[in-house]
Amino acid sequence: MDYYAEVAEGLPKRLRNFIDGEFVESVQSFPKFSPIDGRELSHVAEADAAAVDAAVRAARRAQQGPWRQYTTAQRAETLHRIADSIQDRFDEFVAAEVADTGRPIAQAKALDIARGISNFRTFADLVSTAHGECFESVGADGTQLLNYVTRKPLGVVGVISPWNLPLLLLTWKVAPALAMGNSVVAKPSEESPTSATLLAEVIRDSGLPNGVFNLIHGHGPNAAGEWLTKHPEIDAITFTGESRTGSTIMKAVANGVKNVSFELGGKNAAIVFADADFDAAVEGVLRSSFINAGQVCMCTERVYVERSIFERFVSELKTRAEALRVGSPYESGITTGPMISSAHRDKVLSYFKLAVEEGANVVTGGNVPKFDNACDNGAFVQPTIWTGLPDSARCVNEEVFGPVCHISPFDAEDEVVARVNNSNYGLAACVWTTHLARGHRVAQRIETGIVWVNAWYARDLRTPFGGAKLSGFGREGGRHSMDFYSELTNICVRVA
Ligand code: NAD
Repeated sequence: MDYYAEVAEGLPKRLRNFIDGEFVESVQSFPKFSPIDGRELSHVAEADAAAVDAAVRAARRAQQGPWRQYTTAQRAETLHRIADSIQDRFDEFVAAEVADTGRPIAQAKALDIARGISNFRTFADLVSTAHGECFESVGADGTQLLNYVTRKPLGVVGVISPWNLPLLLLTWKVAPALAMGNSVVAKPSEESPTSATLLAEVIRDSGLPNGVFNLIHGHGPNAAGEWLTKHPEIDAITFTGESRTGSTIMKAVANGVKNVSFELGGKNAAIVFADADFDAAVEGVLRSSFINAGQVCMCTERVYVERSIFERFVSELKTRAEALRVGSPYESGITTGPMISSAHRDKVLSYFKLAVEEGANVVTGGNVPKFDNACDNGAFVQPTIWTGLPDSARCVNEEVFGPVCHISPFDAEDEVVARVNNSNYGLAACVWTTHLARGHRVAQRIETGIVWVNAWYARDLRTPFGGAKLSGFGREGGRHSMDFYSELTNICVRVA
């Protein structure tokens, strides 16, 4: 048996809510199934309205308790301790992420859990080195004034996260919220509850005062997620997930005029100019389209290639996509795991069908792979490439969130920029070119929150991250997270 499959056997099989420093039983629970082979992995608490209320009230009480007295240095120390404990239990976190999602083991190690740790370390360091703002001014009557800005926690922050990068995206919000002195009620996705439960164990053992971090499991609509967003004692909601869910949450918080930060869906483009380093561009697009089986919000689903290299590019990407090895992460050499669930696979397959109806040429893939083993009960689809669709096709405009991209030729820079920007989404884009000025020029004209030039998914956590249009609202990362998770007060003092 694979080592990580064995570690996964030892993970908790009953995942409970964590409220006010304790794991508590729930009245209802639901099964979590493996996307690798369909077997039941665990029973997960379904938080009812009373549990959500208890978690929010515990978080509110914690705002008045010892947590309030923590200095910045003490908060930073606690965050580093949490990071140390995740490091100590690294293999369990890897096993949890792999079992819940089926992602390749190497990816869970290098990306997911490593980033979970650095989220805590980065915000610990940022909060301890942050500097304030101070302005001297003279009033209309000649008085001299000193203005300085203080930061207070917002209070109780609700964190709602998706399944595609479970620990990474949860800690991306929990770490800065705690760094700024808030208390948190977190609701991870119902599809990926295990690493969040391990995080609650780590936080319980880190010495954080009771109630500062609470975890509620459960579903979204008419369930824990919705009740959290509607709770009157919540001060802010930070959410990562689908654009439609973001819109629902925005309505839910409107009456209370709550702060929100939204990281939502995308339909991200890559532009490959004929002057690009061909090999690097093909490899970059392969990675950006198919990593995590296409289930990363920043994955490329639209590829625009300059006409003179179009045929060669399609042929080379096809060869490399067909060399990807789809299957169980517990087998060696596997590069591509399953969709998160059979429901999500059905959604992806519905787009595979729609693409053909819309007139796509299926260059490769488009089906469910056959294994003749337990993976046939899993949620796998083949890496898929389409060409030949018009820009108006639904498959070129709607987020599929699977291992698929559409490749289209272009002739001119202005034309491709206009086509890339002709999207309801605005999360991320890549430009592949060796022409320095063109790289900068095109990047500056693209309407997305991040543009990579000759790179993809390189993230410096001090930089702003978020999306334009349907892809989000607000920015997180570095000081932008610190701004979101704190309330600023300007104090203006007459000094003479
Ligand atoms: P989702 O919106 O279905 O669910 C996300 C979370 O919201 C889950 O915890 C879910 O239980 C909860 N939820 C659902 N309905 C809710 C409601 N009415 N009220 C409160 N909570 C509710 O998204 P998903 O399928 O888990 O994740 C995939 C989506 O997330 C894709 O669209 C992807 O692009 C997006 N995403 C965006 C980013 C980003 O940084 N922009 C990162 C990762 C994923």
